[in-house]
Formats: sequence, structure tokens, C-alpha cells
Amino acid sequence: MMIDLAGKASELGLKYFLISYTDLFGSQRAKLVPAAAIAGMQKNGAGFAGFATWLDMSPADSDMFAIPDPATLTPLPWKPEVGWLASDIWMAGKPVAQAPRLVLKRVMEQANALGYQMKSGVECEFFLTTPDGTAIADAADIAAKPCYDAQALLRRYDVITEICDAMLALGWGAYQNDHEDANGQFEMNWHYDDALVTADRHVFFKFMAKSIAEKHGLRATFMPKPFLGLTGSGCHAHVSLWDGGKNLFEDDAGELGVSALGYNFIGGVIKHADGLAALLNPTVNSYKRINAPRTVSGATWSPNTVTYSGNNRTHMVRIPEPGRFEMRLADGAANPYLLQAGILAAGLDGVTRKLDPGKRLDINMYTDGHTVKNAKRLPLNLLDALRALEGHAPLRAALGESFVASYIKLKTGEWNEYSAHLSDWERKATLDV
Ligand SMILES: [Mg+2]
Repeated sequence: MMIDLAGKASELGLKYFLISYTDLFGSQRAKLVPAAAIAGMQKNGAGFAGFATWLDMSPADSDMFAIPDPATLTPLPWKPEVGWLASDIWMAGKPVAQAPRLVLKRVMEQANALGYQMKSGVECEFFLTTPDGTAIADAADIAAKPCYDAQALLRRYDVITEICDAMLALGWGAYQNDHEDANGQFEMNWHYDDALVTADRHVFFKFMAKSIAEKHGLRATFMPKPFLGLTGSGCHAHVSLWDGGKNLFEDDAGELGVSALGYNFIGGVIKHADGLAALLNPTVNSYKRINAPRTVSGATWSPNTVTYSGNNRTHMVRIPEPGRFEMRLADGAANPYLLQAGILAAGLDGVTRKLDPGKRLDINMYTDGHTVKNAKRLPLNLLDALRALEGHAPLRAALGESFVASYIKLKTGEWNEYSAHLSDWERKATLDV
């Protein structure tokens, strides 16, 4: 049944709605709409100038409309009179092909047509920094191995529990919070769900963590590698395919309790990993996380080769227990919709072509990686990843050619801007040649 947002406004005491969408760079854009105007907006959408955000549009394009998905209605826990809504964007009566939420929906339809639904959970890591983002906010957080540090976690009790209480009240099934492996770094976990639900919540989580941190005089950043020498912020995804209530990756007779279908899916992820990096590691900074030297804690906890393993965190794909796998490639900058869409598109190609993931490796990749002769390496920078994405025809087809073309065009522009930047390092290394 259609949810009537005007009715919800009086029922929940909402004075405003935040009609939002996520652009190709993962930025959330929104209009704040008074409850008195929500009925019309629910039907026709909120108008935006597409060119003004990262969507590869022209200033001459007509108005773009964000049509809210009423199922996503979420009163802001830190401002309960405002109801947040994720939307799908339309222009000239048609859905916008490169809109990230629609890209995910399109890949999900391909999965549904084959009888599969993807469920996933994400592990969001982030740093709490000073408001200007240049230093860790907690000056006492200096341990060499700070992971799970109880003192440092409890010093941030007020902000962490405000976010966790909000997730509990929203019914997300929040179940644990910890201090992560870098000084100033935290992770908060909630229950897995359908890929679109998880992606919408992931968008909201980032918005909420940043907003609540700001309220406490801090800054929450999901930047993949904000501090050289410290572990970066990943966004590991746990993935399984389902048919209704049945987990199709679970098979008692399969190696490590994973079905043949599960291994084919992993085969697709392995096959397309370098192209996937363009979506899962979407910034120049991302490559300082996945290709990093050892950090002060002793490990980077991020992959640098395209390999899979059992319950071993030094590989790109880990099978922690029967019935699912963990993709450890993505980082905090990944667009929540494109993260899910990319993994699903790659996995479906593996399933339809019955791709073999190759041999499982059980070694410590951080110390013994050099002994593996044929392991494919991950891209060393954003430009290599974008070129790799362009080279993966099945990924392009599943995600949509026009989306991929727009994405590569805008991200190549970002790369060019970075390359044109003259750095201090460059000056020092080159001045006296
Ligand atoms: Mg973690």
C-alpha cells in the first residue's frame, strides 16, 4: 500500500521532509520541504538543476526531479521533526540512467530475473577528528595497538552511543561498536539486509555519524587514508544470495560451507576486481589505503592483491563462516549504491558464466604474498582502476553503459585535476634535477 507522506507528517509530528539523493561522487543532495508541500512533492518530486551536482549533466538540461521513496522515511534522530527520504531521480519523464540508486535497482532486477536477491551488510569505519580534520580529536589516543581499546572507546561514549541508540530506535539491529585499529578510528555495526535497504541505511549512517559528531564538536570522516602510517578506513561488505528465505551460498557439503553458486559469485568478483576498484575505491586517496606499507599497528588490514581465503583477513575476499563471504576491498569513500551494485554485477557475471575463483590461499599475504607468483595485483591508482573498469564489458553491460561512461568521464576529470596539482613532494624531488 502506498505510504501517504502528508499523513505520516501529522502522525509522526514531522514539520519538514529532507528529500535527498546521492550523486555519482557519493555526495548527498537535498531539499528541505515543509510538510504542507509534501503531497505534491511525493507525486511530482523535488526539482533540482542536475548540472550543479556530480551527475554528468549539462547546464542546458531541463529540471531534474527527485521522487522520494516513502519506504525510506526516517525521522532524523538528532532533529526528529525532519523526515529524511531517499529518492530516485527523473528527467523529462524518464529515470536518469546514471543515478546511483537506480543503477543498483537495475542490477537487482537482473538478479531477480535469475531468481536471486542479494543480502549484504557493511562495516563502516571512520575517524573522529578535530573540526578542521587535520588531527585525531582525542590527544590521549596514542597507543601503538589501539584496536578495541576500552579507555579510548569510553572517552567517546557520548557520541558513539547517541549514534547507536538512534540505530536501535530505527530498528536496524545495531549490535556492536568498537575502537578500530587506528588511533581515532571507530566502527559501528548493524544487521545485514537486502542490498537496497543496506545501501539506503549506509547513506543515512554516514549523514548521521557526521551530523552527530558535529553536534559534539568533532568531525566524523570516512576518508580512506586520512593519516599516513595509520590503518585506513575500509568498508567491508558481507555478501550472500538468497531465494526468499533460503541462503543459496550455504551448503554443508561445499568447501568451507559455501555452495558452488557462492564460489561462482566469488569467481566473478575476482575476475572483475581491478575494474570494481574504480567503484569501491573511488578517490585518489583510496589507493594510499590498499597499497600501503605496514602501519604502526603492524598491519594495514587491507588487500593489495586479488586473492581469496578462508577466515584470514589478509586477502581481498574472506570466507569467515559458511554461507557468506566478505569483500574487503571497499573503503569509506565508496558510494553506498555503487558499492552494492558493483559487487552484485561482478558476482552475477561469475554466476552466469560459472567462473572459477581459482585456488584458495591460506597464507599470510602481508608476510608471504611474494611467494604467490600469479596473484593479480590491484590497481595502483585511480586512473588504472578507471581504465580497468572500461575494459570489463560484462560489468559495463550490467551497470549500464551510459552510467559507466558518465562515471569514467567525471572521475577522469577528478584524476586530471589531481595530476595538475603541483605538490610539495614534487617540488622537493624535482627542483634540483
Ligand atoms: Mg573493521
